[in-house]
Amino acid sequence: MTDVPVSHDTVRSDSVLDDDGAVRTAADDRVTAYLCIGCPLGCRLEVEEDEAHDIVEIRGFSCKKGERFARQEHTDPRRMVTTTIGVDGGRFPRLPVSTADAIPKDLVVALCERLRATRVEAPVSMGDVVLGDALGTGVDVVATRHMPTD
Ligand code: SF4
Repeated sequence: MTDVPVSHDTVRSDSVLDDDGAVRTAADDRVTAYLCIGCPLGCRLEVEEDEAHDIVEIRGFSCKKGERFARQEHTDPRRMVTTTIGVDGGRFPRLPVSTADAIPKDLVVALCERLRATRVEAPVSMGDVVLGDALGTGVDVVATRHMPTD
């Protein structure tokens, strides 16, 4: 995206002006920016698509991990979910749990709501499945610590 505001008569026919007056072209709309979370370097990534929404270029990565992250984030963003659930008869009232793998990002809120209503009975061992095939994702939610009885 071009940052410098220009007069309307210099804007190309496939361009529009943003609210701040910056020129925005159709090509700009085909570039999506991401911040790589693969390491503390935090490379700024760009994924460019063609008119058919096929990826034509990935830029800004410093390693292959970043390139893979950008492609995954652009086509099928996923997140790990970590939270706590209620436990009955345990030494502590809450049990830390986590998805065993990342799930589609748009299911994260629904899974958190599902886990808010989930309770288990102590004792629980680390790695025990507390919710299998969470929301039909094929990913289990597992305990991330032991929970002995009170
Ligand atoms: S692209 Fe590689 S070096 Fe850059 S933040 Fe991602 S993992 Fe780190």
